[in-house]
Amino acid sequence: MKNSGKMPDHTLDTEYGRVPVREYDAVIVGSGAAGFGCALSLLSCGCGSFAIVTEGRNMGTSRNTGSDKQTYYKLSDGDSAADMAADMTAGGSMHGDLAFVESAASSRAFYRLTALGVPFPHNEYGEYIGYRTDHDTAGRATSCGPLTSKYMTEALEAESDSKRIPLYDGYRAIKILKDGEAAAGILTVSEGEASEENRFGLAVFAAPNVVWAVGGPSAIYGSTVYPESQTCALGAALEAGARGINLTESQYGMASVSPRWNVSGSYQQVIPRYVSVGARIPQRLYLKSVRYSGGDI
Ligand SMILES: Cc1cc2nc3c(=O)[nH]c(=O)nc-3n(C[C@H](O)[C@H](O)[C@H](O)COP(=O)(O)OP(=O)(O)OC[C@H]3O[C@@H](n4cnc5c(N)ncnc54)[C@H](O)[C@@H]3O)c2cc1C
Repeated sequence: MKNSGKMPDHTLDTEYGRVPVREYDAVIVGSGAAGFGCALSLLSCGCGSFAIVTEGRNMGTSRNTGSDKQTYYKLSDGDSAADMAADMTAGGSMHGDLAFVESAASSRAFYRLTALGVPFPHNEYGEYIGYRTDHDTAGRATSCGPLTSKYMTEALEAESDSKRIPLYDGYRAIKILKDGEAAAGILTVSEGEASEENRFGLAVFAAPNVVWAVGGPSAIYGSTVYPESQTCALGAALEAGARGINLTESQYGMASVSPRWNVSGSYQQVIPRYVSVGARIPQRLYLKSVRYSGGDI
């Protein structure tokens, strides 16, 4: 456990013990690609004081998962943010504004990663070439292999550490605190905070802005290739009144559950059809889209 945070600003005496309180303008919960990426973005826009709080620096999906080829999506040559957003919303469930923002910012996020040394392939002219996969019509995909999201997270983490962004490791957020309808911070539990006067190891991070970068809903699937260390915490956000957007946009696909490993969309494109040899639909299907090329399963 490596913490780089600060001493508490003050303490709160509660029926559960004396709880340390640390104050920031924003708190980012989660240390995956999203959490570290957000921290660097806040830093570059000079957004006041903030900290990353995570139940495990090395836990979560970005760092612990893979497939035969993990894919990164971004705007391609001759593309436009509007076209990419239109493709993302074509299924009818994704929020249009979010799709547009994701598309528009995808180039900037990608080139930040390349500048940090993530080894995405390029040709001798320095051009980052793409390929088509997973319902992609414009060659928006690229990859640096089975562990792309791990490389991304490690590069973002190294940059975050070098900028001395405070990170509290080993703190599990259990509640989003509110002041009326607005977020006011988070309540966490942590072994490191436990003491005689604080038996449960509670801690408060008081912040009017909470970024909930806790990863995907690993716990809702019967069989899953989410890594064991992805525990999921979306319930606390819903409990606090957050609106669920894009929750119907899960992708399902072929995977092995032992080991937990995904079969990429590229495989699906070259396999002409699946043939079922039993009455049951295999429950191993999830997360990534499968192209059922006219075949039965
Ligand atoms: C097998 C597999 C293959 C995939 N392939 C692709 C692919 O090819 N292309 C693609 O784009 N995506 C792919 N994905 C999805 C992608 O990996 C994830 O969407 C992405 O890594 C999520 O990043 P994140 O930072 O949001 O969350 P995560 O990396 O899961 O990070 C979550 C963080 O939150 C922390 N956390 C969780 N709960 C709490 C809490 N209560 N309190 C404090 N901290 C908490 C965790 O410790 C962790 O640090 C794949 C996923 C899987 C499982």
